[in-house]
Amino acid sequence: MPIITKNGRRWNTARSFLAQARKRKHVTYQSHAHGVRVLFDGNRATGLETLVKGKRRLFRARKEIILAGGTMETPMLLERSGIGAGEVIKRIGVPLLAENPNVGEHAVEQRMFAAQWKISKQMGLNEQLSTQMAQMRTGAKYLIERDGIISTGAYELAAVAKSDPSLPVADLWLQFNPFMNDISGAGFGVGADPGFSAAGYLRQPTTESSVHATSADPFAPAEIVANYLEHESEQVAQHRLLEAFRGIASQSPLADMIDEEQVPGPAVQTREDAIAHSWASSHALHACGTARMGSGDDSVVDGSLRVRGVEGLRVADASVLPSQPGNTMAPAIGIGAMAARIIAAEA
Ligand SMILES: Cc1cc2nc3c(=O)[nH]c(=O)nc-3n(C[C@H](O)[C@H](O)[C@H](O)COP(=O)(O)OP(=O)(O)OC[C@H]3O[C@@H](n4cnc5c(N)ncnc54)[C@H](O)[C@@H]3O)c2cc1C
Repeated sequence: MPIITKNGRRWNTARSFLAQARKRKHVTYQSHAHGVRVLFDGNRATGLETLVKGKRRLFRARKEIILAGGTMETPMLLERSGIGAGEVIKRIGVPLLAENPNVGEHAVEQRMFAAQWKISKQMGLNEQLSTQMAQMRTGAKYLIERDGIISTGAYELAAVAKSDPSLPVADLWLQFNPFMNDISGAGFGVGADPGFSAAGYLRQPTTESSVHATSADPFAPAEIVANYLEHESEQVAQHRLLEAFRGIASQSPLADMIDEEQVPGPAVQTREDAIAHSWASSHALHACGTARMGSGDDSVVDGSLRVRGVEGLRVADASVLPSQPGNTMAPAIGIGAMAARIIAAEA
């Protein structure tokens, strides 16, 4: 499965882009600056109010400001700056600068369907991960050789499938791990027995959720309404994930070594069971859409990432994605690259 990695180390945008940019003389880098709100002169963004270790610090912008706080924080930053739905801005008690009911709305996230099988053969990674001694050996191998399970991604293998053969593109995502989790307690741990685990989700669900600020205080909790699988077609497809996992597990040679389907277990059969099991699983951590890009009034930013209704303000993060792409890390990096190209071309 493709992962973001370099020389055996999981890589990230701070190392690959920011570290390079910080070497330039005209770049000032300030960490631990918590964005409170964007400052405006009329409707032109002129600065950012931040809190640095509890102290108010203002950053002034001669040209423009680019927000990249992510799907959860960017809409709240906009709202604390007076950009959003009238009733939200009124509730948090800041002056309304640009009314836009799309801010914080249209969030799309996937609901996972978890699965796990115990196998009869001592193979896979449980042996390497389940005891403290094995973990130390695995850790030492990684430190010396930059190799082994720690150098890989969260899942080793992925597949796409169609919930309905007549669909033009695959709508299901299935990912597998060559080890089993310890499901005896509430915490997250690796099981002692050999086995493999999996998770699946709909690549492009359309049920929408929302994220809004509840106060002008940047540390106040968000109001998050998390919805999943509201449409019947999504529920049918989510059920097909269960059938797809069981279809894979029922085939030789895998089937010959499976002792038991531990998760979700034989009691889960119907569509209702599959949805209930999905609620007990997790979400995929791919939320997007709360400052969605578009050409009309149903969007927050235009095709050049400019925030509608004000000047000198752009958003460049996963919040601008107008629909769920499936995975969001690479698209978020792509948006950053796109923003850089647009801004450089306009300079
Ligand atoms: C545990 C986990 C695992 C994931 N695994 C995958 C994966 O395997 N594949 C995949 O495609 N996607 C994955 N994702 C999703 C992916 O990481 C995100 O979609 C992507 O990082 C979004 O990029 P972004 O720039 O929009 O936001 P972020 O990466 O969240 O960046 C936003 C930044 O803004 C900062 N910030 C927020 N608020 C403020 C504020 N008020 N002031 C100052 N700074 C602020 C944050 O600290 C953060 O550094 C995963 C997410 C999580 C949480």
